[in-house]
Amino acid sequence: MLQEQEARAAELERTFIAIKPDGVQRGLVSEILSRFERKGFKLVAIKLVVPSKEFAQKHYHDLKDRPFFNGLCDFLSSGPVLAMVWEGEGVIKYGRKLIGATDPQKSEPGTIRGDLAVVVGRNIIHGSDGPETAKAEIALWFEPRDLVSYTSNEEKWIYGVN
Ligand code: UDP
Ligand code: MG
Repeated sequence: MLQEQEARAAELERTFIAIKPDGVQRGLVSEILSRFERKGFKLVAIKLVVPSKEFAQKHYHDLKDRPFFNGLCDFLSSGPVLAMVWEGEGVIKYGRKLIGATDPQKSEPGTIRGDLAVVVGRNIIHGSDGPETAKAEIALWFEPRDLVSYTSNEEKWIYGVN
């Protein structure tokens, strides 16, 4: 039984999710958190921060040649960001599904951006787009000691193993 638990823990993924200043200012924090919680993902780190512009540039470094890069970094550093790490089987890919397409005009209804945002420049939430970026973004925003490992009582019901 212990071996089974350990094997599953080794498989568990983590992703970096952030509610951007527009989502925080619009009072959407609890709405967004509840969608990840109800799905069965586990919160392992959370903090509210106002990132500097330099920090925002690091976070979005892959987009540095895009015309919207400067405005995007100005925006991310313009107010409180709720930075989080969520854990669970398939959380990187499924987290992106919960979030929806980058442009809220193209996000499906039922997704966070589809239900709660209208334009691409104010799409309220960020989620890592793959295992490598998840690792890098978690390391950028959090210290290893900020990540809390614990067993939730619900896990045996969510995953169906003892
Ligand atoms: N963005 C924008 N204009 C665009 C494309 C993207 O303002 O034409 C912003 C948008 O806020 C998006 C962020 O840049 O969330 C990062 O872009 P990316 O392509 O990585 O989209 P995401 O991974 O957030 O869906
Ligand atoms: Mg992205």
